[in-house]
Amino acid sequence: MDISAVKTIFANSFRFMSRFAFVCILLFVAPFQSAMAQQLPTDRHTGKAVANGTRSVNGAPGNAYWQNKGDYDIDVNVNPVSCQLSGTVRIDYVNNSPDTLKTMLFKLYPNLYKGSSMRNTQIATADLSNGVQVNSLTLDDRAIDSTQWRINGTNMYLRGSSVLPRQRVRIQISFAYSLNKGSFNRTGRITDGAYFIAYFFPRIAVYDDIDGWNEYPYLGKEEFYNDYGNFRVRITVPGTYQVWATGDLKNTAEVYEPAFAEKISQAERQDDVIDVITAEDLKRGRITKSQPTNSWQFEAINVTDFAFAVSNNYVWKAASLVVDPQTQRRTRVDAVYNPDHKTYESVVGYASKTVAQMSNHFPGLPFPYAHMTLVDGLDAMEYPMMVNMLPFADEKDIVEFTAHEIFHMLFPFYVGTNETKYSFMDEGWATMMEFLFHPLIAPTVNIDYDLSSVNEYAGLAEDVPIMTPTAQLYGKARYADKDLKPALALFYLREWLGEKRFTQAVQHYIRTWAGKHPTPYDFFASMNAGAGMNLNWYWKRWYFEKAIPDLAISSVSRKEAMYQVTVTSPGTAPVPIHLTAFYQDGTKQVLKRSAGIWADGRKKVVFTLKDTPRVDKISLGSAYDADIQPKNNSWIRPTK
Ligand SMILES: [Zn+2]
Repeated sequence: MDISAVKTIFANSFRFMSRFAFVCILLFVAPFQSAMAQQLPTDRHTGKAVANGTRSVNGAPGNAYWQNKGDYDIDVNVNPVSCQLSGTVRIDYVNNSPDTLKTMLFKLYPNLYKGSSMRNTQIATADLSNGVQVNSLTLDDRAIDSTQWRINGTNMYLRGSSVLPRQRVRIQISFAYSLNKGSFNRTGRITDGAYFIAYFFPRIAVYDDIDGWNEYPYLGKEEFYNDYGNFRVRITVPGTYQVWATGDLKNTAEVYEPAFAEKISQAERQDDVIDVITAEDLKRGRITKSQPTNSWQFEAINVTDFAFAVSNNYVWKAASLVVDPQTQRRTRVDAVYNPDHKTYESVVGYASKTVAQMSNHFPGLPFPYAHMTLVDGLDAMEYPMMVNMLPFADEKDIVEFTAHEIFHMLFPFYVGTNETKYSFMDEGWATMMEFLFHPLIAPTVNIDYDLSSVNEYAGLAEDVPIMTPTAQLYGKARYADKDLKPALALFYLREWLGEKRFTQAVQHYIRTWAGKHPTPYDFFASMNAGAGMNLNWYWKRWYFEKAIPDLAISSVSRKEAMYQVTVTSPGTAPVPIHLTAFYQDGTKQVLKRSAGIWADGRKKVVFTLKDTPRVDKISLGSAYDADIQPKNNSWIRPTK
């Protein structure tokens, strides 16, 4: 939406306003026009996509938008004792692109652990392996000779494929690898009897209109980018083990004893937390059908990935809640954990409240999945419907990570952003939710948010614009530039736009891009359209420049029993002003300006304060205000 839309919004309100208000509005709009005319810097591939009509400048997919699709039928065997995983994946792939795919790119993520692979994370020598063994590969039932594929780290290139536009092909790969026993990088053995298994099957990389094949290798630190598809997965494990996974368990009665199948069903009908599996149940056994092995069948429709957990010694707490009042659809929330980890007992409660907040408050759209399962693990990592989360000792960490990981279900899963290239597109949201949800889901748990990564590193040589592709982020400012800075930018934007308009913008973005692959440019334009405001000046200064948050109280002067306080912005990031005056009688007054105050390029804002009762101290900042120079943030009445 352009400047005329904003004028219309104001025009509709004019007749209710006094002349004074009218003048104020003109003062507000005039400087805004110049700021709003800003164009965002763009890159060549994005420009080409707009010219080709696959993307648009209004934030919606272009008329010629396309994305490819792969449906996965997976059959795997997991031996928890030997840590061997083997199986077959059948992929039904549709090339919706206008291009003939002469080479196909596959991802073999377990090759992170292959001895010869490049990595940016440490792997213990004992966990170095031969990587994924590709035992056979067929294309449309035709056996492909191994000389036709080339494996380079986690990428496998298949030459001579020639998949035409609109063509559907069937690929079948039989594969095997050894699960890592230590060096837990999001997947592998947690302890004896507990495993979190992700990135385990060969899959086709994303081929999109911006970059063609997604060739970013997985080196350990990066995250992922996957096409949508339907997953039908059969997981065979020894009879005493249970499996939790993305999607719906389709054969509950075949794998669980009836008493436990009934408890799961009960959890899906009631709000109160229920102990589906207790420590006593684990001692007694006979939870699953006593057969040498059980095959667990799962189905997940239109998701980007599939992960699962396997254990014979975890307890399980569950509850469910209505996420869509119109249809009465419920989501089951699970905490599956080592019974010795007592801090995990509160997880299901926070998880349930997070899902409720997401459905009813922000963004206020029904939670899209049938279950949300948090599994005690050695990381803090999200998968569709699944989270692998450490048993944090600190309650504050449990609250924040629970909110963070669950919010990831929207980004990058429900809205399929490219984490390999722009991880800020999901990490910014998930981190912002820690700020937003913490007081709502755990009002009694202390909030003491650590902003040090921005306060200490913003403006250093290593600090780069948020728009820097994630693979190019190294060193000190990496976390700030992909997680915390984008979270603050969104949090301050919410304060500026107000909850209603901000939520309306985010809902518009989610509805426009659900099940698709938006770029940052689609995100910016879509938020502009949803908010009914051109926010480009704000996106430019936070995302395309080296955003440095820094405010200062640069002068305080007294005139006729009034104080004039000048707040300047030596930094470059548009941040909100929260100015607190502390009076002699113990009272205080907070004066605020949102980040929007900087839209016209000004560098200072003047506040006026009464000096009765006497002002003893003035300070800048709040719990979520980043500032690289705290020492110029306060003024203390000089003693005579
Ligand atoms: Zn995250």
